[in-house]
Amino acid sequence: MKNIERNFLPGQYDKTNSLKINHNYLGEQFSDYDEILRKISIVVKNQDFTLGRQVDNFEDKFKDLINCKHAIGVGSGTDAIFLSLKSLNIKEGDEVITTPFTFYATIGAIVTAGAKPVFVDVDDDFNIDTNLIESSITEKTRAIVPVHWAGKPCNMNKMLDISNKYNLQIIEDACHAYLATYKGNYAGTFGKSGCFSLHPLKNLNVWGDGGIIVTNDDKFAEHLRLIRNHGLKNRNLCETFAYNSRLDTIQAVVAMHLLDKINHITDKRIFNANYLDMELGNLNEVKIPNRDKNNVKSVHHIYPLQFEKRDKLMNYLISFGIDAKIHYPVPMHLQPAAKDLGYNEGDFPKTELLSKKTLSLPIHEFITEDDMNFMIGKIKDFYTIK
Ligand SMILES: *Cc1c(COP(=O)(O)O)cnc(C)c1O
Repeated sequence: MKNIERNFLPGQYDKTNSLKINHNYLGEQFSDYDEILRKISIVVKNQDFTLGRQVDNFEDKFKDLINCKHAIGVGSGTDAIFLSLKSLNIKEGDEVITTPFTFYATIGAIVTAGAKPVFVDVDDDFNIDTNLIESSITEKTRAIVPVHWAGKPCNMNKMLDISNKYNLQIIEDACHAYLATYKGNYAGTFGKSGCFSLHPLKNLNVWGDGGIIVTNDDKFAEHLRLIRNHGLKNRNLCETFAYNSRLDTIQAVVAMHLLDKINHITDKRIFNANYLDMELGNLNEVKIPNRDKNNVKSVHHIYPLQFEKRDKLMNYLISFGIDAKIHYPVPMHLQPAAKDLGYNEGDFPKTELLSKKTLSLPIHEFITEDDMNFMIGKIKDFYTIK
């Protein structure tokens, strides 16, 4: 394929043919695309091209799925976080506490909303260490954005205690955490709002960009519905000048189609993770993160473990056609974009350690037991030979 230079694509979809066991499974997942195209043709016939019935239907079904009062479809997961922060009236000079072990979008949303991100180190499970949050709170702190990394919910009891004690709002980045639960409640439903992404590489995914905000707060929901759509109450009445970040109607059709499969997708990922945990947990060179299964249900959007000799292992696995990937080698506080925030190497020891040791194995619903046995075998070989 020709290199795409102008429209930057960070190599997400291009390994499919060269590796046997891939992170990318989009071809299999959308093998019934004829059926989706048929559903899309109804939108074309009805000319319901922005918002409309398809978005309504998807929002209704999604809010019911995770037991929440409102779901609002928006342009992306990033916008879900950004619009939530804007609805809190976050402004210049405010501080928002979050994790340096996340995808760029979490921080991008905080910064573009006008706030200063304040990082708090993570624990061994990749999630923000709730014991470290209080010492980072200042008079300027307005909100916390916890990220339920890899699909494991953060310690929400502790998080809610802190938010009550200091009067801080919580906006959950639940982009990895469809159907994950903490003490029986769904990730995304604890904070003022929960934010999901429908990006092709997420557990619930569409053919482009999309996002969802969920909230139990009627007023908050109403405001979010306004500001995703120019602040319009109706065609002739603008209540507040705002944004254009609607969930695309065609993507809502794709998302609706996938909703019928999300339970299966989730169960299969959990099955795969349990299988790999059991087999790899015996190796001295491999560290499985604390799963805390009594309190949480993790949905394994990615499957990162800590490995000795991580970089060598990665190349070894790739040489056997296994798409081992690093999520992510450079933490947020050490990115060039963070230079004005004043952080240095050594500020977040756990985060920095994890960024050097973790490797993610393919875990999606099309990974078979044979695939897993092959990966397990190669990892065992690596530590026996090397
Ligand atoms: C994917 C992702 C986002 C952003 O989602 P987009 O829909 O791509 O904008 C935000 N946070 C995390 C942790 C993510 O993985």
